[in-house]
Amino acid sequence: MQIVHTIAEIRKLVGPARAEGKLVGLVPTMGAFHAGHLALMSRARHECGFVVVSIFVNPAQFGPSEDYQKYPRDQKSDAEKAEVEGVDVIFAPSVEEMYPEGFGSYIEVVGLTETLEGAVRPGHFRGVAIVVAKLFNIVAPDNAYFGMKDYQQLKVIQKMVRDLDFDLEIIPVPTIRESDGLAMSSRNVYLDTKERAAATILYRALEFAKERVLEGERYPAALEAAIRRFIEQEPLAKIDYVAVVDPDTLEKLEKIGASVLVALAVKIGKTRLIDNNVIFGFKEGAFKTPIPL
Ligand code: AMP
Repeated sequence: MQIVHTIAEIRKLVGPARAEGKLVGLVPTMGAFHAGHLALMSRARHECGFVVVSIFVNPAQFGPSEDYQKYPRDQKSDAEKAEVEGVDVIFAPSVEEMYPEGFGSYIEVVGLTETLEGAVRPGHFRGVAIVVAKLFNIVAPDNAYFGMKDYQQLKVIQKMVRDLDFDLEIIPVPTIRESDGLAMSSRNVYLDTKERAAATILYRALEFAKERVLEGERYPAALEAAIRRFIEQEPLAKIDYVAVVDPDTLEKLEKIGASVLVALAVKIGKTRLIDNNVIFGFKEGAFKTPIPL
């Protein structure tokens, strides 16, 4: 596995692989790898002949009071883990390489970015969109892999790809969790022992929400209120938002139909965690009575 830091170097490696007829897969990351990242790499390895993993803690997607400076960085351990997954090359550019002096272009994805993360992290998706678009232009992958853990990000990227005619496939990968349900996240390292135990409240709240929907709850406002009450049982948890929305538009639903996205952002101590689940398969009346055998 090679590790390169410049755009010229990564293009020099990808070009010949493509010329050999290999499918090129890209896994964009901010590093500090955990099993979630590795699942994306493994999927890319299965589907592509040449796998590029980018590691770039992108300052453009962090707000001024967010954790850009202290975001965990460990390129040595990342390289070891990526190598085990069979990655061909890590692209780890500097901030100057990605945003040289005089840089001034951004991408605004309108329609999906005003709610949830976009509402509480102004400018976040503008930063995500520009860095991902740059990576797409630099690597020109056939497939790009994104985790459903960042559901809204996945939707925003899919829309950007459609709107800007990027000639590539976005491959969504399901959320990888710890054995107690906590979604893997690079930010989990910020949690102390008590907070780590409390952090399972997000997953438990998603499971609770699923049960409520399968039992017949069809009113988003009632479901949202019930989820809030559930999370409020955990003294270390402070709700940022609880959203019960349409999984495609991320807009409010009048009634819960065939599928619904439950998305959560909760602070555990000082650490802000997000998680989500799309609940499928609900049909009017289907779960009100026991299913006959
Ligand atoms: P990050 O390094 O946090 O920017 O994440 C890089 C990619 O890994 C994104 O597409 C994330 O959605 C994905 N990812 C992060 N955590 C998980 C997880 N627990 N399961 C699956 N994918 C994840």
